[in-house]
Amino acid sequence: MKQRFTLAISMMVLACFAFVGLAQKKEEGENVIKVLILDGQNNHKWKETTPILQQIYGTNDKFVVEVSTSPDEKGTEAEWDAWRPEFSKYDVVVSNYNGQMWPGEVRAAFVDFVENGGGFVVVHAADNAFSMWPEYNEMIGLGGWGGRNEKSGPYVYYKDGELVVDRSEGPGGNHGPQREFIVTKRADDHPITAGMTSDWLHTKDELYDKLRGPAKNMTVLATALSEKTHRDEPMLMALTYGEGRVFHTTLGHIDYSMQCRGFYDTMLRGTEWAATNSVTIEWSEDFPTKDKTTPITAAEKVAE
Ligand code: ZN
Repeated sequence: MKQRFTLAISMMVLACFAFVGLAQKKEEGENVIKVLILDGQNNHKWKETTPILQQIYGTNDKFVVEVSTSPDEKGTEAEWDAWRPEFSKYDVVVSNYNGQMWPGEVRAAFVDFVENGGGFVVVHAADNAFSMWPEYNEMIGLGGWGGRNEKSGPYVYYKDGELVVDRSEGPGGNHGPQREFIVTKRADDHPITAGMTSDWLHTKDELYDKLRGPAKNMTVLATALSEKTHRDEPMLMALTYGEGRVFHTTLGHIDYSMQCRGFYDTMLRGTEWAATNSVTIEWSEDFPTKDKTTPITAAEKVAE
């Protein structure tokens, strides 16, 4: 009996050590999500929005963030040759890029990364990029501008509560004047939007409409009603590409469009899902309601 008791105590001690070991591992960064933000060219103010994306990930100690900035529009061949982001060192790549086509080597490495299980997050005008790159368009599902038309794929939207895949002719990409608008949940059974408030007021932003693209392996997570098309246009989407996962948010035109709790929470949860295939980050208690957006408090904003 005494021997058994000793054995039980020993096992408990061992279990404690194992627990301490795990905790230490986490502190050493074994379980962190490594994020790489890509920027360098955009018809939007990427030098103002990348620091906000960094700030968003900085509010949660799950994430560690690095930024890779491509050469600008005047970049020399030597500068482009020197730009080789090491995608495989990260769990998830976040694009704040809309500009010149990346070099073939970078494109191939990126496709390889996502195809083999890497995460990808597409922010606002990043879905304007690369209309002529088929793999990229499969990853993002829907895109706008850049000569996109019926050859790029269908329009996808909700109309009268039903998902519509519309192959009619016409250009891809449009938006009305910036304003606050309500974001409506369309998928409660997806990890990113599970438990999200059904209708919440997003802060002043551009509401993209008429996006079109391959739309394969895509779940529309949330929509907003466009005054231009009178359709409920996709705002948040989740896709799979090979073994990889893609979170696509059309929100985030400029700094103030990103500085609301709705953008923060959806980015954090979407990025965690893209990186790990599950979501553990909770919705914030001050998440916006249908009538009231939640601006990010001064303390959380990037220092001016
Ligand atoms: Zn914009």
